[in-house]
Amino acid sequence: MQPIDFSLALCGFGPANSGLLFSLAKSGTLTAVAPRGVLIIERGRSLGSGSLSRYKIPSNTLADVILECVCDERLPAAMTRLRQRSSTIARLERMRGEAPDLDLVSECLSDAAELLVSDLSQRHRIALRREHRIEAVTVRDDGMFDLVLRSRSGEQVSARVATLVLNLGGTQADESGASLRDLLHGVPPGNVPVLHSDPILQYSESDLLARLSPHIGARRTLVVAGSSHSAFSVIERLAPVSERLGLARIVLAHRSPPRFYYRDVAQAQAFGEHVDVQQDVCPLSGRVNRLGGLRFRTADVARQVFETQRLDRHRIAIEPRHVAIGRSAPGATGDLSDVAAIITCFGYRPRLPLLWDSAGAPLRLAEDEHGLTTDDVGRPMRDDGRVIRGLFAFGLGSGMSIGTEVGGEPSYRRRLDGIWLYHNHVGAKVTTGMLRDIHRDDRGISANITVASRLETR
Ligand SMILES: Cc1cc2nc3c(=O)[nH]c(=O)nc-3n(C[C@H](O)[C@H](O)[C@H](O)COP(=O)(O)OP(=O)(O)OC[C@H]3O[C@@H](n4cnc5c(N)ncnc54)[C@H](O)[C@@H]3O)c2cc1C
Repeated sequence: MQPIDFSLALCGFGPANSGLLFSLAKSGTLTAVAPRGVLIIERGRSLGSGSLSRYKIPSNTLADVILECVCDERLPAAMTRLRQRSSTIARLERMRGEAPDLDLVSECLSDAAELLVSDLSQRHRIALRREHRIEAVTVRDDGMFDLVLRSRSGEQVSARVATLVLNLGGTQADESGASLRDLLHGVPPGNVPVLHSDPILQYSESDLLARLSPHIGARRTLVVAGSSHSAFSVIERLAPVSERLGLARIVLAHRSPPRFYYRDVAQAQAFGEHVDVQQDVCPLSGRVNRLGGLRFRTADVARQVFETQRLDRHRIAIEPRHVAIGRSAPGATGDLSDVAAIITCFGYRPRLPLLWDSAGAPLRLAEDEHGLTTDDVGRPMRDDGRVIRGLFAFGLGSGMSIGTEVGGEPSYRRRLDGIWLYHNHVGAKVTTGMLRDIHRDDRGISANITVASRLETR
């Protein structure tokens, strides 16, 4: 059977790829990027919210920012109906200036994505495959990608596309033994179970109790490792169930102190912060720790933990401990022998389908500790630093590093991720990259290109 043929495939339709579609629609570039249409492939049933819908924590984004993303006046038809139909918009309107829970943000993103796809389908060729997984991708010599999709019932579907955007979310990276020893202040991790923060942020309270109870018996300390948004969100989830779990304390093992977001240097100084104006201030906005800083509820949790070793009215003791990488001598503190489990709150690796070249050899994409390594328009690199034209990935576990056009504090080393960025700077950069590759491929196809010639040195 002939594969279905499209200009663009958006694989995974969570916040990253739906943000890109919003960005294409707002900038009026959808036809230029996808003259033969868009294929949307989503493993789940709902669109737009991805894994955010599963977290039972507050967002780190203001309601105003979500509204700005989905109620843009460049999308009049769709957004008039969104305002009329979606009760989540009205609820977000009432929460301006606050950071809503992620379930409300997700509902809104989902309503908006449904409406956007249905609105765009009136004027563009858009095929939506819900409950389909992308399994494998072959990079062809003629500049196209062959995709193998699988429906929930097991049916296989083939598709051929010119531009491929892979945003399938991420999974949390495992920690090495050496790193765990550091986190436990030299106590050999031995039989201490290592859990990831991601499921902890998703469990209901009863699931949290059921999952953690078996680990806590005579050992009554939990170590939470990290100082990011996730680490303080985990503490916020654990504190209310700590007595029922029989926990005596939570140790927050952090390699670097938490960074807080401030409107400007003056506000940071009023809080007694030392600001490195070269490293910590976004040159475009003047914000301090704009990308990596804790804000809203997680900032409040972090301040309470560091100032009072408690959270709200909960009795559990929460002890912050600074961990120097590679310098924790065995038994340095000696009081961590009762650790029941360690919960790591570190970065994400990308979820990817199988990737092959036209000869059937596997294609490996380069990663570092922050996820896929991509160029300044969101194209993942291979181990040798070259990129494959037409292939993009920029969501969780992938993403771009900061650049002058995006702004952000120079000290920020992780990837750019976040709803606003997908809808704005990141979406615009990826669009530029897609258009650039389409024009190069036009020339390439007439010159009968091969996979090797599609690899570009950065
Ligand atoms: C705990 C946490 C909280 C966060 N909070 C915020 C916040 O408050 N504000 C903010 O701006 N950002 C936040 N982020 C950052 C970022 O916005 C989210 O991680 C966001 O979910 C990333 O979107 P994504 O589309 O890359 O991934 P995901 O949300 O994981 O979406 C991936 C999509 O791909 C689908 N998929 C997976 N595999 C396949 C397959 N094989 N085939 C087809 N489809 C597939 C999934 O079903 C899913 O819909 C948070 C991140 C984390 C980890």
